[in-house]
Amino acid sequence: MSNIKPIFYENLKELNKEFFPEFKEKFDDFLNSGWYILGETVETFEKNFSNYNNSNFTVGLASGLDALHLAINSLNLEKGSEIIVPSNTYIATILAIINNGHIPVMVEPDIKTYNINPDLIEDKITNKTKAIIVVHLYGKSCEMDRICAIANKYSLPIIEDCAQAHSSSFKGKNVGNFGDFGAFSFYPTKNLGALGDAGALTMKLESNYQQIRTLRNYGSKTKYYNDLKGFNSRLDEVQAMFLNIKLKKINKITAHKRSLADLYLKNISNNFIKPIVHDDYFDVYHIFNIRHERRDLLKKYLYDNGISTEIHYPVPPNKQKALEGYFNNNYPISEEIHKTTLSLPISYATKVEEVERVCEVLNKF
Ligand SMILES: *Cc1c(COP(=O)(O)O)cnc(C)c1O
Repeated sequence: MSNIKPIFYENLKELNKEFFPEFKEKFDDFLNSGWYILGETVETFEKNFSNYNNSNFTVGLASGLDALHLAINSLNLEKGSEIIVPSNTYIATILAIINNGHIPVMVEPDIKTYNINPDLIEDKITNKTKAIIVVHLYGKSCEMDRICAIANKYSLPIIEDCAQAHSSSFKGKNVGNFGDFGAFSFYPTKNLGALGDAGALTMKLESNYQQIRTLRNYGSKTKYYNDLKGFNSRLDEVQAMFLNIKLKKINKITAHKRSLADLYLKNISNNFIKPIVHDDYFDVYHIFNIRHERRDLLKKYLYDNGISTEIHYPVPPNKQKALEGYFNNNYPISEEIHKTTLSLPISYATKVEEVERVCEVLNKF
């Protein structure tokens, strides 16, 4: 319909607009500093991020994928080790395992939370299992008390994929602080987004902190002396500058998304499966998804009414061409989610009136 104003799923210019004046002011300082890699701004961001997330340490990195990759690499596991991972995650989590030479062992999610089902983890643990990766998908924490108990029982390290879950917590504790590592992405669309690629790892132990700092910079602690086979995965000063500015507003960003989610939850009819809400979880709604049997038709119907949506994700990892041969089993719950899920606009740039219109149109489907 041409006479109505389109509702975008995401609009990065709108989302960042309120930060433009400060970006411009600080960009001048950045230019004049003459120091563009691993300087004061990255260190400041790391301290700010640790304070914000109640984490002992943070290391700024080039991306969320790198954060996962370096966390796994630092475990120094024998090649071919098995690592537990949810079957409905974004492919990055699985690539980080495979690209380190290990075997992803997928565990199905709970159809109600979309997160790894703790009841199914122990069955998949063998003597080759060397780590558990959990993914706090859509901005909801996994059931970390039960998962930590399992990890303790088998002495397995936990890596948390927090790429969609900045500020999300479970029973009052922030994600990224339950396991050995918390991997964050600051891809522009994430709840805390840079203006390019960026990521970070949080960790409890100083030894892990020193190791990740070394790994991100060619395995070098002292210039030209390389102790580890490292990587180039440094967070740029300029991205750290943008992130320092936006981090001051993360609570406002989260509150906005949570208020839009409340509106959706209140106004969307029960013809759609909505995200569950529970007191133990502080959800940050990186994604607000609903499920419906005729998802593709629904997506088109909304689009014809000027409303853009996304699908997270259309193809499950076990059906991805790049991962052919890795997974022989069926993952019916994951496949069901991939067939029926639809993500509604819930950006920092999305307005209350827009959400009201989405609900109205949706309920007429
Ligand atoms: C975005 C994302 C990543 C990867 O982050 P990048 O910064 O794009 O590398 C990893 N895991 C999940 C669940 C994500 O959503």
